[in-house]
Amino acid sequence: MVEIKSDAALQAMREAGRVVARALAAARDAAGVGVSLKELDEAARSVLDDAGATSPFLGYRPSFAPTPFPAVICTSVNDAVVHGIPTAYRLRDGDLVSVDCGARLEGWTGDAAITFTVGTPRPADLDLIDATRRALDAGIAAARAGARMGDISHAIGAVAGRARCGMPADFGGHGIGRSMHEDPHVPNRGRPGRGYRLRHGLVLAIEPMLMAGGSDHYRTDADGWTLRTTDGSRAAHIEHTVAITDQGPRILTLP
Ligand code: MG
Ligand code: MG
Repeated sequence: MVEIKSDAALQAMREAGRVVARALAAARDAAGVGVSLKELDEAARSVLDDAGATSPFLGYRPSFAPTPFPAVICTSVNDAVVHGIPTAYRLRDGDLVSVDCGARLEGWTGDAAITFTVGTPRPADLDLIDATRRALDAGIAAARAGARMGDISHAIGAVAGRARCGMPADFGGHGIGRSMHEDPHVPNRGRPGRGYRLRHGLVLAIEPMLMAGGSDHYRTDADGWTLRTTDGSRAAHIEHTVAITDQGPRILTLP
């Protein structure tokens, strides 16, 4: 069931979104050569604590997962696409890191992700980040009242296709509100003019995941969580929580 949010709820979700943005910035600021993924999690966790927010990630256990998620962020390094667990792994020069974070404040949830490089960036990684950002921007631009879900999906898929990147077909964005994952699903590929009709008060997490090798194939690590490319190519993941309004798309997870 799709829940349409009131304007008061959109305002409350904006506050949750600000906390997410701050937590992501803290994780990024903490990152550097020799810094562990656990330290990024601690940096994000202190932002949530200071804001009086809780984590929708911590303890989360969807049907596919063998264990509850143990952290407040996902950290997906290099060929990891999404859902990486922050371990004691220490970042190395040239690593490509995606950080995904959620926050729940006053009962409302925000969800966003960033991808960045550590130390000296590889030019191909900067291109991959740029393509993923353009895919997200195109998806957000299509998130207009009166349009269809397929317009968002098609916009994302077209950018990924032009960049010759693959995307894991079973994963995409989602409705979000009191829960992190609500209806409807937001596929990262689709046909324009098809699917759920978008309207004022619908809130979606839009999240392209691009794999540089061009294949859509992925595998899951033995931890049951981490998605990885099968060809060893690198991946990027950028996400915003976006409200569809009669005044146009409103990004709720900006600082
Ligand atoms: Mg997320
Ligand atoms: Mg999400």
